[in-house]
Amino acid sequence: MHFCKMPSGAQMPAFGIGTWRMGESRRRRAQELEAVKYALELGYPMVDTAEMYGDGEAEEIVGEALIGQPRPFVVSKVYPHNATLSGTIAACERSLKRLKLERIDLYLLHWRGGARLEQTFEAFHRLRDAGKIADFGVSNFDTDDMEAAAGLDKGLTASNQVLYCLSRRGPEYDLLPWMRQRSIPLMAYSPLDQGGLLGSAPLLKIAAEVGCTPAQLAIAWVLAQPGVATIPKSSTRERVKENLGALAVTLSPEVLAALDRAFPPPRRKQSLEML
Ligand code: NDP
Repeated sequence: MHFCKMPSGAQMPAFGIGTWRMGESRRRRAQELEAVKYALELGYPMVDTAEMYGDGEAEEIVGEALIGQPRPFVVSKVYPHNATLSGTIAACERSLKRLKLERIDLYLLHWRGGARLEQTFEAFHRLRDAGKIADFGVSNFDTDDMEAAAGLDKGLTASNQVLYCLSRRGPEYDLLPWMRQRSIPLMAYSPLDQGGLLGSAPLLKIAAEVGCTPAQLAIAWVLAQPGVATIPKSSTRERVKENLGALAVTLSPEVLAALDRAFPPPRRKQSLEML
């Protein structure tokens, strides 16, 4: 297991489970709870959630799954329409309640909306001073948004969670170098492109040569990028276990070169994509 060091000096695990789409249906709830519990039992060191997911229900599921388990690193996010000074503080308190926690390890602004960034960051600083969050950061911020945030965060933006996977390598052109220069880890969401990557013929072929599954190859590639963490989501036990297996996959320079040929890195600036 490797970790990424955040500007505060604290460490963030490079791997965890995502929870988007969890908590949206009562019919699937028990299976989703079981999947998150199982991930924690297997030793997933991080869980990513948000007040948006299932309208708070995904946080409830995470809170239930945490009972009796070793405490993972917990990431949650505030909705942009709640991200005023008082709104952020109130949203965080609601999230803590649903998660049944006293502190969120990393609290993110889900995307840049109408609220003034100054206000959101002021709320983040106050929450940090009060011990309700350990670190804070942003999500879906392109390089210009990161520049804007940099003046307001006292150098403490801990991470930027963005869409980044083999089939969406745009951040490599300027965002990832910008973040690396400042030692800010990038948290890659949708490392499987929400499952869309997994039918790709070159991915299937290279995975067979490496001796792993396509999902493991896609996740291992993200984890092979310095300063990058990732949070694949699954609600099925077998896949939760399979995805963890990516940590044991080592990619040789030849395999990385074959992946570059199949999924070329960007040659020019691409605006950050968002799901
Ligand atoms: P992922 O790339 O993680 O893919 C999830 C999909 O792939 C699900 O449909 C899942 O189905 C399927 N899947 C998972 N593992 C396997 C496997 N081994 N084989 C085949 N299929 C598999 O997409 P997400 O969009 O969920 O991204 C991951 C997490 O990132 C989210 O859950 C969320 O926490 C975060 N996120 C953040 C965003 C942001 O704006 N900040 C936006 C999007 C995501 P099943 O569950 O049935 O196994």
